[in-house]
Formats: sequence, C-alpha cells, structure tokens
Amino acid sequence: MSFIVAIDGPAGTGKGTVTEIISKKLNLTNIGTGSAYRCVALAAIQNNIPITDTKGIIDLLDKIKIEFKKVNNKDLIYLNGEDVTKRVREKDVATTVSKVSLIKEVRFKLNDIFKAQAEHQDVIMEGRDIGTYVFPNADVKIFLDASLEERVKRRIKQNEELGIKMSYKEIETNMKQRDKDDKEREIGALKKAEDSIYIDSSNMTIEEVVKEIVDIIEKKRT
Ligand code: C5P
Repeated sequence: MSFIVAIDGPAGTGKGTVTEIISKKLNLTNIGTGSAYRCVALAAIQNNIPITDTKGIIDLLDKIKIEFKKVNNKDLIYLNGEDVTKRVREKDVATTVSKVSLIKEVRFKLNDIFKAQAEHQDVIMEGRDIGTYVFPNADVKIFLDASLEERVKRRIKQNEELGIKMSYKEIETNMKQRDKDDKEREIGALKKAEDSIYIDSSNMTIEEVVKEIVDIIEKKRT
C-alpha cells in the first residue's frame, strides 16, 4: 500500500511550494493536480475550443497525454510530450481553468490519472478535492488556507519569478472568481474534509508551514 499525503486549499496558499519542498525532503512523488487541470485548459486554447464548448473539451480528453516528470530534481508537467510547466501559469490558462474543471468528465479522467500515480509509489498530492473526493482515505490530510490579500501577494511574487505580468487587481479578481467556482461546483468542490488538519498560513513562513506538515507526516509514517 502506498502512503498518500493530500494537501488541499484555495489558490495562492503556498500549496505548490510547500508540496515541492516536502516531496524532496521525504522522497514522496509530487503530483500537482492543479497543473493537470491547467493542461486541459491549455489544450482547449491550443485547439481553439471555446470554454463554453463542453462537448468539444470532452472530445479533446482522448487526444491529450499528461505526464508528471522529475527532471534535475524539478517537478515538470508535460502535455503531449511538451514541457508546459511555465506555460500553464499564464493568464489565458488562469482565467479559463476553473471553468474547465467544472466539467465532470474532465474531473473523472484526471482523477483516474491521479489514482494511477498513487498505485505503486508514495505520493504527496495538492489540489482542491484530494482529501475529500480523490483519496478520502489518505494517510495525512491537510487543508492549507490564507487570507485573500496574502494569497494575491504570493501569486504576484510567483508570477514575477516566472516572468508573468499580471496586476494586483487582475490577480485579485481572478482569484475571487476561482474561489467561487471551486467552492460551488457540483463534484470535487473545494472544502475542508472533516478529518483534515487546518493550517492558516497567512502569518507563517514557507519554512514554518513545511516544518509543521513534515512533523505531522513523520508521526504518521513511523
Ligand atoms: O492549484 P492551481 O491554482 O494550479 O489550480 C488551478 C485550478 O485547477 C483551480 O482553480 C481549480 O479550478 C482546478 N483544480 C481542481 N481540482 C483540483 C486542483 C485544481 O478543480 N484538485
């Protein structure tokens, strides 16, 4: 049986960063589920399929291949053989991804990919519905949260590092909309699992969050 760590929470809470650090520290395979949803949104954009064309997006699912790879100790995501790790963070994807993730066929297909990843290896998976829906029996479940203001500031910093230009207002509007879409969707809505551990990272450093989660995992794993 593999060991599964689920980290859920809204955008900009530092899930991606802490998950990447913890995966290296504890030798867990890191599966960024948000990046996979972003790949589907990107594939729709590349194929000129409007976000309103649900059937077009569902048909596209059979034609896309998503792979998670570790290259030089960095977690990368590939869409049809191309490294799209940076591309999926850009504005056109950020503004369409939560609509794509409302489509239940998209969720089913991606959840199958995530489950297959956890069959033969220990994983840490970050997303919205991992502890509630994808792996309700995960060994460790964390719900990572932070204030909207702090989350926008963090996303600005992350975008600067990736060379992506978006204003404070643009990011705030986009995040509010995504929070709403994520919380209100029918399947896989963002919510804290009853048995997950709640961490508010608004006033914590990345190192503090990492330490708290590592301690929780180590207690469970030994
Ligand atoms: O975590 P990230 O910001 O990359 O996620 C992008 C989007 O993917 C989210 O806003 C959400 O709409 C979708 N998502 C999801 N379920 C997950 C992970 C992400 O619907 N498990």
